[in-house]
Amino acid sequence: MSPDELAIPFRERAGRAMKDAFLQEALTIATTKFIGLRREAFEVFPDGEALRDRARQIKEATLQRLDQHVERLVARVEARGGHVHYATTAEEARRIILDIARRTGARMAVKSKSMATEEIHLNEALEAAGVTPVETDLGEYIIQLAHERPSHIIAPAIHKTKGQVADLFSRELGRRVAADPEELTRIARAELREKFLQADLGITGANFAVADTGTVVLVTNEGNGRMVTSLPRVHVAVMGVEKVVPSLTDLMVFLAILAKSATGQKLSVYTTLVQGPRRAGELEGPDEFHLVLLDNGRIGQLAGPLREALACLRCGACLNVCPVYRQIGGHAYGHTYPGPIGILLTAMLHGPESVKDLAHASSLCGACADACPVRIDIPGMLIALRREVAERKIAPWAERVAFGALGRLLLRPALYRAAARLARLAQRPFARDGAIRSLPLGPGAWTGARDLPAVAARTFQERWDALDREGRA
Ligand code: SF4
Repeated sequence: MSPDELAIPFRERAGRAMKDAFLQEALTIATTKFIGLRREAFEVFPDGEALRDRARQIKEATLQRLDQHVERLVARVEARGGHVHYATTAEEARRIILDIARRTGARMAVKSKSMATEEIHLNEALEAAGVTPVETDLGEYIIQLAHERPSHIIAPAIHKTKGQVADLFSRELGRRVAADPEELTRIARAELREKFLQADLGITGANFAVADTGTVVLVTNEGNGRMVTSLPRVHVAVMGVEKVVPSLTDLMVFLAILAKSATGQKLSVYTTLVQGPRRAGELEGPDEFHLVLLDNGRIGQLAGPLREALACLRCGACLNVCPVYRQIGGHAYGHTYPGPIGILLTAMLHGPESVKDLAHASSLCGACADACPVRIDIPGMLIALRREVAERKIAPWAERVAFGALGRLLLRPALYRAAARLARLAQRPFARDGAIRSLPLGPGAWTGARDLPAVAARTFQERWDALDREGRA
């Protein structure tokens, strides 16, 4: 999202999204489908719950010895002829990749879907350096044509209806294209085939990297990942440093739950294992292989309040079930990672100030934690973030004054009871059938979007006291 768009307050972006009929239709169809597929996948997989526990244990154990696993990974990748680079910041990661592009004389880079490269804003940097980036995942291809950013971790163009995609393709091709997914895919495939053959550089993310074997693992459904890793003469994989897994046995646990959580599949269609550059006697593969390990705020959270978020597999299940994401979609969040986990990752990358509004974009219903294959306590961390935002006085003053007053009220029972009596009187002009549906001035912003429960005619304490007096308590 451009700085201009980021300057628009979150509430306004969310409000616009909720009024966008196309977006609402696209989100409802896609997220409902994902939720159903995930549920069915786990219903017929009796070991699912135990595997989720196992996956979490592996993640925890790996994070505790992350340095050792990374050291082993680096040694194995280098032993297979690959190069490993460590990037502390997004800027450093971009510089490393641009250096590789310059040294190898690259003019065109084909890319497979990668949130890590979105995170470091790689496409803009490549373009500025004279290297044309071409997204080859269908969803990414669509949003590159539309000059947009992904709005979902695994389904970048989830916010578009097939009619909108057909309009986009028609504009690009200068002829009318039918809103038929098969036809649209055929067109994209034909366009991209040439690019795979022309590109000098293949850039991918990585879902995992196995420390024991130096294997980088890509999980995709379209086969483009295999073209990107095997046709260009140089392959660069960009991976968050926390994604290392100790062994191939551990990898199997994650593969077993990742696709089920993401798309309801038993396994994704393609699981590609990359082990360094092409070796003597091999027919395909790059001349050079580079693995860029991205820190960008991750290592600092190993002992920080967002540590649990480092276990994230980027499956997207928490987005699909989140009642907020389902209403506003990914772009309204304004950062690379949307949804409930996206709020935590944004805080990890840009600090708590960046999520002073987003930290409240959750109903805390817990659906995200229920859906998460590694049982990340997203609501717990969101509450902690809200507390930090409040303590560091990052929240708007009106909010701080209101919640500060409420806090003081809740700590004084007599004052609380007096306030309840006063509120009962004050609400009379507005309360109907137990709810306040419209308030004037500032509080009207709240009731414009939801009802406020009216203060009860008799509070629990008053009823209890009455029962007590009657000897029935
Ligand atoms: S937090 Fe959990 S559910 Fe959300 S993307 Fe990460 S692994 Fe998936």
